[in-house]
Amino acid sequence: MTFNDFNFHKELLKGIKIAGFKEPSPIQKMVIPIISNGEDLVGQAHTGTGKTAAFGLPIINKIANGEIERALVITPTRELATQVSDELYHLGRFAGIRTITVYGGVGYGRQIALINKGVQIVVATPGRLKDLYKKGKIDDFNPEIVVLDEADEMLDMGFLEEIKEIFEYIPQNRQTLLFSATIPEPIKALADTILSNPQFISVVGQDESTTNNVIEQIYYVINESQRDEAIVKLLETEKIKKCIVFCRMKREVDRLTEYLKALGFNASGLHGDLEQSERDEVIKAYRRNQTQIMVATDVAARGLDVKQVTHVFNYHIPFDPQSYVHRIGRTGRAGKRGKAITLVSTEEFRELQRIQKEVGANMKLATIQMNDKDVTNESNFLSLEQRVRDIKIDDLAIDFIDSMEDMDYHEFVERVVTILLKENQSKVAQIGYDLDTVNSMIDEYQDEQKVAQKSNRNRKRR
Ligand code: AMP
Repeated sequence: MTFNDFNFHKELLKGIKIAGFKEPSPIQKMVIPIISNGEDLVGQAHTGTGKTAAFGLPIINKIANGEIERALVITPTRELATQVSDELYHLGRFAGIRTITVYGGVGYGRQIALINKGVQIVVATPGRLKDLYKKGKIDDFNPEIVVLDEADEMLDMGFLEEIKEIFEYIPQNRQTLLFSATIPEPIKALADTILSNPQFISVVGQDESTTNNVIEQIYYVINESQRDEAIVKLLETEKIKKCIVFCRMKREVDRLTEYLKALGFNASGLHGDLEQSERDEVIKAYRRNQTQIMVATDVAARGLDVKQVTHVFNYHIPFDPQSYVHRIGRTGRAGKRGKAITLVSTEEFRELQRIQKEVGANMKLATIQMNDKDVTNESNFLSLEQRVRDIKIDDLAIDFIDSMEDMDYHEFVERVVTILLKENQSKVAQIGYDLDTVNSMIDEYQDEQKVAQKSNRNRKRR
């Protein structure tokens, strides 16, 4: 099947071609005919499956053909709104489609003016959109198609009431589409109230990829005290183009970012306490490959679609299984392979097992084999020293040093030695325990749990 089979407007086909989409992804094959047919839909799919284009293409096509005039997409975060708006703009620009993002934290004037001027696709976050409707600023904005994107995220972020209120302002004779990675009870109930006779489509657990993207999932079992060392070793040994390191807490993001920067890594932090303009800067630099490592909390990196993210690291395993799914979905995008690496301490076994069970994550235990060299060992240090002594000094090096008149010679040598030591060290460390050790740790952990439960019961009885 190709995109030509959908009978799309020729200017839209041009947009698809320039975007580099060769063939429709599984979700696109399934939902495009339904949406084109004017039916309501609940689509269960993670980000990375091509779901934006799955709803975007038939919407753009209908606008291009004059079947409808306007559409609204509601997303949980400003970042996602920008991303969706950009993608729809790029796909639809030859068909003359204009898009606008509407979110809080910036002035109202331009947003109101553009909506009232008739921009065809409005991509909005719930808070600001509700505000505009409530203040009577966009009374004439009556979209014929409304999309709720990442509905479960909106639920998690506490937007459910706002969504319901927004729908009170939108005419009933609309087509409504709801996309969500998971469909918990409140989302089902919401779908019952705002959708009419919807079709249900799910690509979760099947081949979800846009083309054939695969995320390899591995985990290392470490001691709590090894966490920083482990992440540094992984950053040094993995072949990383760009990566995201997920932390649980904002202050952990700040601390780890500073730590990595001090070691010379090109890292920056992203979390909700940063000013919106700072967040924009961090994401922009990351998109443009000016930053290689983004250290982030779940919320800050939610729904982020950045190309060429080869690795996702879970510095800590997330509390919630769904977060695990959302986190690892930041890699392996648009048909590329990705790797998701999780660091787990023995205290986190239970969370690991819950994630494996609830989301069926196929995570494999990994270790980096111990090299027989150990730099902390004195004989190795001596051999390193000998190696340094044996190096024949190149003429180029002499010229180079001569040209560095301003640098303190002593300091320079210290830096070179530091680099040599670091290089040597990165080759020798072991990360994680092997399978036998992990199994015996699990046994020990489970025994401890049993003892703890038993003593709890005894205490209660007393
Ligand atoms: P999404 O799930 O909408 O966040 O899309 C994930 C990524 O896949 C985006 O970068 C899209 O541009 C890309 N994409 C969407 N559809 C296709 C397709 N049919 N072929 C290749 N890439 C696609």
